[in-house]
Amino acid sequence: MKPLILDHLPDGLLDRDAASLNEIIDGPTLIHLPGRRPQPLFVAVLQHGNEVSGWDAVRRLLKSRYQRDPLPRSLILFIGNVRAAARNRRHLADQPDFNRCWPGSDSVPTIWHDIFAEVTEHVRLRKPFASIDIHNNTGLNPHYAAVNRIEPRRLNLAARFSRTVIYFTEPRGVQSMAFGEFCPALTLECGLSGQADGSDHALAYLDAILSLSEIPDSMPTPEDLELYSMFATVTVPEEVEFSFTGADGISQLLLPADLDRMNFRELPPGTRLASVPTEPELLLRARSHDGHDLSEDCFMLEKGQILTRRPLMPAMLTTDEFVVRNDCLCYLMERVSVEPDQALAIDRGEESGLPETLP
Ligand SMILES: [Zn+2]
Repeated sequence: MKPLILDHLPDGLLDRDAASLNEIIDGPTLIHLPGRRPQPLFVAVLQHGNEVSGWDAVRRLLKSRYQRDPLPRSLILFIGNVRAAARNRRHLADQPDFNRCWPGSDSVPTIWHDIFAEVTEHVRLRKPFASIDIHNNTGLNPHYAAVNRIEPRRLNLAARFSRTVIYFTEPRGVQSMAFGEFCPALTLECGLSGQADGSDHALAYLDAILSLSEIPDSMPTPEDLELYSMFATVTVPEEVEFSFTGADGISQLLLPADLDRMNFRELPPGTRLASVPTEPELLLRARSHDGHDLSEDCFMLEKGQILTRRPLMPAMLTTDEFVVRNDCLCYLMERVSVEPDQALAIDRGEESGLPETLP
């Protein structure tokens, strides 16, 4: 299979919602649209089929005044997983997660890796202005931008979307990491899929970036940017029975039903995360991105409760049992200084990527 590459919008495409795009295109598609400035902005939507804010933003943008007027800048639109979108799924059972298959991936090679390598090479040759990959997530999260390098131009772009910016370093094979090799690349997380504020925000952002003539090459000030670095992933061990309500009576690990209210809150040491009624054991695992077990460093056990041991800020906490079982409970972040000398020293170079929970 090859990516479909078009130089125009197919008839009726903008009238389709994410779930019916597959009536017109049947696989990953690149669409080149000309604008006044030739250096193109690359925008990716629907890498995950059930995350529709990006497509909703793009179709609204292109149906706005740009049906008459030229775009201020050329656009390369990438539409990802339309088959999964038709089923409102992140990906189908016979597909990998698309956003783990881009160059730099360490997953088992598939036909999708070849397709995304071809897309990457095609876009690289066109020297894009920037790359923006639009997603949604589960749980109560603010909208935020994420970067894979601590570098002025991408932090400038990110801070225009949200003051909160996250620097991720795992997993490999995400689109923004692959494109970050040749242009400022970021990921937008637009809250819950299908809610108007997510596509409103992405729409306003895309319109603003398309109109930008250049990207400042200086670090944003602390007033404009709060940068957090993801340092660990929290999981529930496979053999542990858990629940968010405790109603089944057999769970070893009880998690509060409103746990996701702690998302993006800096938790002081001693904050209760869960209880372990039957066994005095830390049944949460925190693993650093280089594979170290940080559980004892992050959590402590006190009278059947799992408490935080150090200041932490969780992100992408989910109360969806499927996501916890198949991906993770949350990520842990710590604040990074954006004073120029210090921030750049924390950058982990090529070892970078974007984690995201499985909706
Ligand atoms: Zn996603």
